[in-house]
Amino acid sequence: MSGLRVRFAPSPTGYLHIGGARTALFNYLLARKEKGTFVLRIEDTDVARSTQESVDAILQAMEWLGLSYDEGPFYQSERFDLYRQKVQQLLDSGKAYRCYCSAEELEARREAALKEGGKPKYDRTCLRRTEAPEGSPYVVRFQVEDEEGVTAFDDRIKGTITFRNDELDDLIILRSDGTPTYNFVVVVDDAEMGINLVIRGDDHINNTPRQILMYKALGYPVPGFAHVPMILGADKTRLSKRHGATSVMVYREMGYLPEAMVNYLVRLGWSHGDEEIFSMSDLIDKFTLEAVGKSAGVFNPEKLLWLNAHYIKTGDPARLGKLLLEYLAAEGIDATRGPDPAAVVVTLRERARTMVEMAKGAAFYYVPEVTYEAEAAAKFLTEAQRPVLESVTARLEALETFDEEAISQAFGMVMEETGLKLGKVAPPVRVALTGSTVSPSVYEVIAVLGREQTLQRLRRAAAAIS
Ligand code: GLU
Repeated sequence: MSGLRVRFAPSPTGYLHIGGARTALFNYLLARKEKGTFVLRIEDTDVARSTQESVDAILQAMEWLGLSYDEGPFYQSERFDLYRQKVQQLLDSGKAYRCYCSAEELEARREAALKEGGKPKYDRTCLRRTEAPEGSPYVVRFQVEDEEGVTAFDDRIKGTITFRNDELDDLIILRSDGTPTYNFVVVVDDAEMGINLVIRGDDHINNTPRQILMYKALGYPVPGFAHVPMILGADKTRLSKRHGATSVMVYREMGYLPEAMVNYLVRLGWSHGDEEIFSMSDLIDKFTLEAVGKSAGVFNPEKLLWLNAHYIKTGDPARLGKLLLEYLAAEGIDATRGPDPAAVVVTLRERARTMVEMAKGAAFYYVPEVTYEAEAAAKFLTEAQRPVLESVTARLEALETFDEEAISQAFGMVMEETGLKLGKVAPPVRVALTGSTVSPSVYEVIAVLGREQTLQRLRRAAAAIS
């Protein structure tokens, strides 16, 4: 194990979205590559907005993506004693102070400051206060020192970033209800958990200088920072529901494979030459923060779909077969009896781009009775085709082995017998077996369906003609 300690720190106020998943992935990859430690911390100090349901959804999404962590999940809601102790430490050392200003007072002063064209910043009334109003509610504010100075950090992705301290407010670290705030607890936790590199979304860049001042005030070492650029939609606005699903798990529902999602997420902001296809172990090998771009990534659903199709084509049929059963069940199709799903996958994987498409395409294998598409039946299940269906039935029935090669020979005999080409023989068979004029090759379909189902379906179609 190297000394690298990183963390993912989601707030459980909703599902795991694309951006959060990518942040988690970058942390995970770097931890694995450097043989470091990946910590999961649930930031649930906002008791009103945090839910167990969201925690479960986040954990489930991480598991689906294969992002295993080494420590945690830690819950901030279980660490309030520690935070209060640290607030007290800052109060005792004179680096924080109680503020009794009411919300109305603050608002009035804010408006006045805005009117004068100044920056609306806490005016430190309570820092100058000599006597505390007895029994009044208060918040605790962190006092920004060295107001003339600057706070700078070398971001591992964005380079050096400098803030003037006089732009930083005396931030509230403890609310009047006694709950601590994000910027404070994140510092206490990252320090107490030994995190030495903070990789997170660049929406937190403005928080970083405030947090650095708090690390120093609490006597903690300051970690490194890497702020990952945000993700935009095709119209270059911040990715949101307008651009399509933003929840990772909705992509699972839509039939995406986790390896496609991981491969897609990592490429949103990271590159390695012009390579596009990366397995998780390739990524652990190749990932570096230095190759993460400085500018925002643009979400491209077409590319995600392309990757998904790739992984469906190349994935292990046995594994995809198991998944297929789940997607069939979601379509209301019981596939516990019927052809081997792994064999079904092999017949469909060249065309299906999602597991949902595959399930729709696989439905005919498992239904007790196929439904003939009206147009297909009108064209191919007619009196003229009955001899073809009967000949195919007889030839297949006579086969000793029922594999694709024997099946193709049986069709050869049908063609000889009827004097028809495969282009005439196959369509009525296809409609009889699948209900439709589009399907995988009939030989494959027959082999996968098996003798009994094939013959039953052929006879039913012949009967349907009369
Ligand atoms: N809970 C914060 C969020 O979800 C984490 C911020 C951080 O990584 O420091 O945005």
